[in-house]
Amino acid sequence: MQVSLLAQDLKVCYNLQDHEDIILKDREDRMSMANVSYQSTRGGESGLTASCAILKGLAEDGGLYMPSYIPKLTISIEQLAGMSYQETAYEVMRLFLTDYTEEELKHCIHSAYDSKFDTEEIAPLREADGAYYLELFHGSTIAFKDMALSILPYLMTTAAKKNHVENEIVILTATSGDTGKAAMAGFADVPGTRIIVFYPKGGVSRVQELQMVTQKGNNTAVVAIHGNFDDAQTGVKRIFGDREFGKRLAERGFQLSSANSINIGRLVPQVVYYVYAYARLVRDGRIQAGDEINITVPTGNFGNILAAYFAKQMGLPVKTLLCASNDNKVLYDFFKTGVYDKKREFILTSSPSMDILISSNLERLIYLSTGCDAKVNKKLMKELAQTGAYTVTDEMREKMADFESGYATEAENGAEIKRLFDTAGYMIDTHTGVASAVYRKYQAETKDATPTVIASTASPYKFSHSVMEAVFGEQGDKDEFAIIDELCIVTKVPVPRAVEEIRNAQIRHKRECDVDTMKETVAEILGV
Ligand SMILES: *Cc1c(COP(=O)(O)O)cnc(C)c1O
Repeated sequence: MQVSLLAQDLKVCYNLQDHEDIILKDREDRMSMANVSYQSTRGGESGLTASCAILKGLAEDGGLYMPSYIPKLTISIEQLAGMSYQETAYEVMRLFLTDYTEEELKHCIHSAYDSKFDTEEIAPLREADGAYYLELFHGSTIAFKDMALSILPYLMTTAAKKNHVENEIVILTATSGDTGKAAMAGFADVPGTRIIVFYPKGGVSRVQELQMVTQKGNNTAVVAIHGNFDDAQTGVKRIFGDREFGKRLAERGFQLSSANSINIGRLVPQVVYYVYAYARLVRDGRIQAGDEINITVPTGNFGNILAAYFAKQMGLPVKTLLCASNDNKVLYDFFKTGVYDKKREFILTSSPSMDILISSNLERLIYLSTGCDAKVNKKLMKELAQTGAYTVTDEMREKMADFESGYATEAENGAEIKRLFDTAGYMIDTHTGVASAVYRKYQAETKDATPTVIASTASPYKFSHSVMEAVFGEQGDKDEFAIIDELCIVTKVPVPRAVEEIRNAQIRHKRECDVDTMKETVAEILGV
């Protein structure tokens, strides 16, 4: 049985053969009842339950897990418009995580999206100069990673119970600055788990670094590596792929998992806020149900924008997905030319969480654009690993036509942060600045008047030095917390709890290592 509800390009690969025996009144019911299973983008594994895919994080063949089909939303936009964030989360997530019971999933959702967030709305939408900024930074570490990482620990411990896992789960995570802290905030002192975070020394903001090295919890470890984010991410992937090491860990009662955005348990919760934002626009009378919107996302590892694409595939009326890059514009070049080429200088920018040359989640889009041909995808990924580049066909590019791309230089980013503050009194962070600048350029060029949601991925407080410099000029070597207090005075936005917490906190993590000793470092931390 083909799933004809799906977008044209997905038809070929997603079918429900296994579920032909499910006879239901209409297709809608059939879609919602059928179990979604998970398969590797490189063909080595298939038929996994959602909980199993979340537990494993990354497939053994190095591929990423993909759902066997992308389910359609089963309730109307009008219904969604009346729902809270938590209710929306349940309606979206239950369609992907089909082996979680209603009780389990609701427990995860309500444990995650509670007073850890400093606003009841969880993800408020703020209009400024004609665009809608979706504020995804109201969680405990003031970046959008909290949206998924506050629920992942619950999804994972539930999955461990469901699958009768007795090993201790060791979360290995590479971070470009925000994932590490958000993951530790979620996993700190969670029984049955340990978490080890690798971050690029000198490659994150002062606040980001302080947030990580002051992390409490008996099960947390933080390591600064002498390398950049790509080195950290590649190193972590290598450890996952090391079967012998895996065996050694298993003998000592450990098993690895990932909190990086390659884990499907991060992607699925991120779909929620795009559905929520759309419903919010309808409820507020900004658009009519069915009207199209555009979505602009400041992009690094391609996880956040991929979630927006999933929302579109679920039936959310989205026209264009605008992928915004900083000076590390590997994705911009890819969408413009069809050539993905990471062989270039790695540039440190004021939007460090986007300083990435290997965007892991792009593999999921590549896989879809091949018609879910794992062989073709695997060959391209092998080329990337061996030669540093690959080229996609015109046919594949056509299937990615929903994406537009742009990039903003450091100067353009700073100018946009200043412009928006001066004209609308709204301060955005350096990542949102990239997205905002790219959106304004796109709009000037195309005259596309479609209402646009811009993913606002971090609080300006996380990048106080850069945003104050953008608006008021050189900050010299002023103390970070002096700048934070000035930011509070000019914006009248209270200093978030997450910043107050680190003002006088004790430094607890001082470990450093070279890129090629990451495995030994993990072994040492675990004592194996
Ligand atoms: C992680 C991050 C991004 C990039 O998101 P991806 O899902 O990796 O593309 C953008 N902005 C901020 C503040 C982030 O922390």
